[in-house]
Amino acid sequence: MKNYFITSVLLCSVFTAGCFSQEKQIHPSFDLTPSSLQLIIEDLNPEIQKRIIQNPYRFLQLALSMLEQPEELFLLADKKHAITRDQTPQEVVSPYDYGISVTRKDRTVSALMIDQLKNLCESAASEGLNIVFASGYRPFDYQEMIYNRYVDQMGQEDADRISARPGTSQHQLGTAVDFGTIDDSYALTEEGKWLTENAGNFGFSLSYPEGYEHITGYKWENWHYRYITIEGVEIQKEFFSDIQQYLIEFWDKHSNDLKEFRRE
Ligand SMILES: [Zn+2]
Repeated sequence: MKNYFITSVLLCSVFTAGCFSQEKQIHPSFDLTPSSLQLIIEDLNPEIQKRIIQNPYRFLQLALSMLEQPEELFLLADKKHAITRDQTPQEVVSPYDYGISVTRKDRTVSALMIDQLKNLCESAASEGLNIVFASGYRPFDYQEMIYNRYVDQMGQEDADRISARPGTSQHQLGTAVDFGTIDDSYALTEEGKWLTENAGNFGFSLSYPEGYEHITGYKWENWHYRYITIEGVEIQKEFFSDIQQYLIEFWDKHSNDLKEFRRE
């Protein structure tokens, strides 16, 4: 009798899910059931898929906060995906004007991240550390000039080894920042270590982590962070193995799918 009951319950749930698609919605802001979400994430690596399936509400909650942000914060710009010449930050400001330590006063960043950049620097300062802003926004034309100069000097093949082609640098977005001395030794400084521990609390994510050159296309850069919002860092950490490239590639492919299923 007991077995019969269990079988009926099982059959019933299979029947309702399969025939009437009455599977439960995961999140009030999306018309998405577990199986329709599965279709969106099926090209992700199995480990990432598993984490999303285990906690789909949290995943959609963080995705929702990303959808509410300006799209330029999560654009894919790497060696395989160049952004166009006209992709520029909506507004740029000078960190120097905000009281941030800089190596050059004339350098700028996207206005979208200046408050968090300031918070980050002030928080480090309260612990006696001096985080120095070295480089931020670099326009397409600037990168093109540098790259072409190398091509003239040494030919394209060698130029590609040491310089990014125009459109392939995160710096064109205005949300990537280089800190400190821009070399490997910075990782060993107190400031470098502090950034590793704390940058994420302000929405900054290390773009090119050690050992991931085959994934990111860039060797380890301990000084190069990209602002992707605090929720962006959380979704990266909780679901995307803490690798920014995995998150941004997913977003490039599927943020429109999520948008389609969003309830107005
Ligand atoms: Zn950089």
